[in-house]
Amino acid sequence: MSADAISPTDAPLRPDTLSESDCAPSDIALKSFFLGPQAENAEWLRQIINQVFESYVRWRREVYPDDGRAISQNDRQSSEFQGRRRHFERELLDLLARFESEVPKYSPRYIGHMFSETSMPAMVGHVLTLLHNPNNISGESSRVGVKLEAEAIDALAEMLGFSSQGKASPRGHFTSGGTIANFEAMTRARSRMLRFIARGAQARARGTLPALSLVEAAHLGWARYDALGPDAPSDTSNAENAENDPLSGDLQAMNPFALAELLRQHFEQPYRGPVLLIGEHKHYSWVKGVELLGLGKEALWPVRLSAEGTLCVEHLEQRLNEAAAAGRPVLMVVSVAGTTELGAFDPIDRVQDLLDRRAAALGHHIWHHVDAAYGGFFAASVCSPESGCALSEPVCRALEAIGRTNSVTLDPHKLGYVPYASGAFIARQAREYLAHRIDAPYLVFDEEARDPGPQTLEGSRSAAGAVATWLTARTIGLNTQGYGRILRRTLEARKRLEATLSELAQPVRLLPASSNLLGFCVGAPGESLSAINARSEALYARFGPQGAGDFFVSKTSLNLSAYGALLHPLLADWEVELDANATHLTVLRLSVMNPFIDSREMKLDLSRAFAQALSEALNALETPQ
Ligand SMILES: *Cc1c(COP(=O)(O)O)cnc(C)c1O
Repeated sequence: MSADAISPTDAPLRPDTLSESDCAPSDIALKSFFLGPQAENAEWLRQIINQVFESYVRWRREVYPDDGRAISQNDRQSSEFQGRRRHFERELLDLLARFESEVPKYSPRYIGHMFSETSMPAMVGHVLTLLHNPNNISGESSRVGVKLEAEAIDALAEMLGFSSQGKASPRGHFTSGGTIANFEAMTRARSRMLRFIARGAQARARGTLPALSLVEAAHLGWARYDALGPDAPSDTSNAENAENDPLSGDLQAMNPFALAELLRQHFEQPYRGPVLLIGEHKHYSWVKGVELLGLGKEALWPVRLSAEGTLCVEHLEQRLNEAAAAGRPVLMVVSVAGTTELGAFDPIDRVQDLLDRRAAALGHHIWHHVDAAYGGFFAASVCSPESGCALSEPVCRALEAIGRTNSVTLDPHKLGYVPYASGAFIARQAREYLAHRIDAPYLVFDEEARDPGPQTLEGSRSAAGAVATWLTARTIGLNTQGYGRILRRTLEARKRLEATLSELAQPVRLLPASSNLLGFCVGAPGESLSAINARSEALYARFGPQGAGDFFVSKTSLNLSAYGALLHPLLADWEVELDANATHLTVLRLSVMNPFIDSREMKLDLSRAFAQALSEALNALETPQ
């Protein structure tokens, strides 16, 4: 790559366009996963879609062949039918025309939000499922779909490092996205907590553990929970009273004010509800969640961010102590794998180490959920003995630790390259997945039942997202040879974009990047934060979905108080004037997800073309050099 600054007049064509034969086998594999920026694989995909449709038609005709036909050739030729047909086809043409103005997300020029090209196996899995239209609410409405969903969950669980052994085997289901998957985690953590509390209160009442506090009860852990269970020898005398004891019922179903009163009586201290600990970079779904669960926004206790822009473990420990001192149970600690703003990874390993230490020292077993909606797919794929690791060591350690946590949110419709809607919630242990359903303590723990209906927050659920993920897992592969290739490619592309942007004559300021998201702003020494933010807004007006630029980016704003440890040293280094009315830094955000952005076979060098377009836009804004 040449090191000279890009002047706006050069067309960034590639001098070294590759011929087909120069292509490495790993690049060829990539080319078989996607339709391609110019629909290069259209013939093949057309053939497959036809095959899917033909197979579906044949199936329809073969299931009840003797029933006779309802629609005849004459019907189809009648003027009423023909009129309807013409009308339908006219409307369809209109609709097709309307979609011509859709955001061209398939193009490597789209580097905006967390979506891009979808893979061919995912498209085909999705279309096939649309035809059959199974409802995965239950095995009754989806004979095949629910089985494929369970298999797809198993494949994702394996990728995340959850081991399948007996009672501890992972369980989960597909959701419409990461938001609902996060809610699924919260309801289960709450169910588990209320079961622990109920059992602790019973042990306290009957004198087994007379001094047990509410906080100790809420984090009892399954081993003590089982040991204190209704089968415990000391409890048999109480068995007949169980029916009248509210603690034997479903605390989650109680009126929350009555519950608070019940717990106040039992533990002789006020019950003010649990808290949820998460870094200040949280996705807004967590705010929705605490409100929806009736915990109140106050229950969301923010944890400070470190200089890396990730959860500060020391502050987490402090907050855990504060919660215990305030008599507030910890519903869960949430780590983020791939933050929405910068694609950063919380130190999941160090968070889990801290929670393990507290479990050993204090007997507090705290639920650790990983919001890996964006970054989860990096888990299986990026580090390999042959290729080494394309991510930093702390990120690899974080990813490897996911297998030790309680539950995970994952969005196949982001880095899984699967069409919407496809999110997933997975718990490491079936028991925690089922925490809500088997709420009555006398119910037998049913490990085999995999009918999703009773366990999902959503009711009717399409199987399409699950089947699309299933076919992708079987074809592309949730491993270094499959997703690993795609994601390594995107990491390289991000690095190249960084290099290209820093060659510009204008003062481009890059934020530290750890995956394939890249944030940047433009500001000369001595400029005010407000001026830099205004420039980011102006660039977004050009390169946002409503703009006239031939590239698409997104933007985000980093709050100075939340991201202080990361931002203050950077702003000082860039010699930015802080002004009283700017409380945040607005950055343009590039999601470098498209595997073809750096394809050396394409005529245009898109990284350089983007840098050039940016440079021209900056010149038009008269940016200081
Ligand atoms: C995208 C995202 C979500 C929400 O997922 P949806 O699929 O949009 O509902 C939650 N958390 C993180 C970290 C995300 O990146």
